[in-house]
Amino acid sequence: MIYLDHNASSPPRPEVIAAMLATLQRIEGNPSSVHGPGRAARHTLDDARRAVAKWMQIHDNRILFTSGGTEANHLALFGLAEACHFSGRIITSAIEHPSVLKPLEKLQQRGMHVTQLPVDGQGRIDPEALHSALTPDTRLVSIMAANNETGVLQPLAEIGAICRAHPVPWHCDATQWVGKLPLAVDALGVDLLTLSAHKMGGPKGCGALVVTPALSLAPQLLGGGQERGRRSGTENLSGIAGFGALAARLSATMDLESQTMTALQQRLEEGILKTLPDAVILGAGAARLPNTTALTLRRIDGETLVMTLDLAGFAISSGAACSSGKNTPSHVPLAMGLDPETSRSMVRISLGWDTTETAVDAFISAFKRSVDRLRN
Ligand code: PMP
Repeated sequence: MIYLDHNASSPPRPEVIAAMLATLQRIEGNPSSVHGPGRAARHTLDDARRAVAKWMQIHDNRILFTSGGTEANHLALFGLAEACHFSGRIITSAIEHPSVLKPLEKLQQRGMHVTQLPVDGQGRIDPEALHSALTPDTRLVSIMAANNETGVLQPLAEIGAICRAHPVPWHCDATQWVGKLPLAVDALGVDLLTLSAHKMGGPKGCGALVVTPALSLAPQLLGGGQERGRRSGTENLSGIAGFGALAARLSATMDLESQTMTALQQRLEEGILKTLPDAVILGAGAARLPNTTALTLRRIDGETLVMTLDLAGFAISSGAACSSGKNTPSHVPLAMGLDPETSRSMVRISLGWDTTETAVDAFISAFKRSVDRLRN
């Protein structure tokens, strides 16, 4: 199987597996216990936190480990809303992940106002529209870094500058961006940043919320007071150790990895457009992640194409993994102005740390064969 669905989940890297296994075999205690096995667990936890913080170039007291991107988004949104007594406004975009849009629906039901900014045909918000949408009662801006379906990057520098000038805290769901492009959290001017380890070759069920210490955030998991009282629950130690190993690796190789992915993406897109000239790449005119290519094709059903390619030994997706299997088109292409039929033809190819030129070339041929077969 050639796996080109890294935005759904990127297989764990060898050093991640090694760190996780070592932790499972070695650590017996609970990081909150005072005895030797507990202190050993605490040591592993602290080391991993330092590795993630070093990679992000921030102090380690800003990293709050969670069970992944969904939980980090929930903590950012519900935590801030509760600290504001569920009053005021949150500004977001039409193409956020459901783990942002659905909590916002809930907050709206609880009386908060939510403004959803539209995106242009390339999938980007207009910074001017964000500026105009800000009201004195705006409590939070929640706009993602890179879209999971198209890879399109939002105008991050502009969003950061607008939020700082207002001022209003900015939550950025960077689940897909982190691990694919070099990162400097502070240069972004972000107050809350969501990460998920399994999107970049780390373990599933492990992520983090990067929080500005002064920000009021009501904890959503109450109990033993772990993670400085902001997220109770015994830590997923082997997962966090794997996340630490991943961060150490990416601190050294991120620049090179993103250059390699950029070259592979170019090869993939040139190959597809040469063999299927009617394919349309979503967000082709915008800055995108170096690993993500979403495209639409005439007279093709995306889901059927994904299944045909699966039988041929290639794993891609027809949009987000969490919405595939549903017959309704994704909200992302619709928000970009595509009609429902064209939106349903969308497929997403997402490269990763183990993708090779040979795999890309084999995929281009299989893709062409599969599309021709379905059309005939
Ligand atoms: N945000 C984005 C942009 C995502 O792509 C995903 C994963 N599909 C999530 C949040 C949720 O992350 P997790 O799977 O770690 O809960």
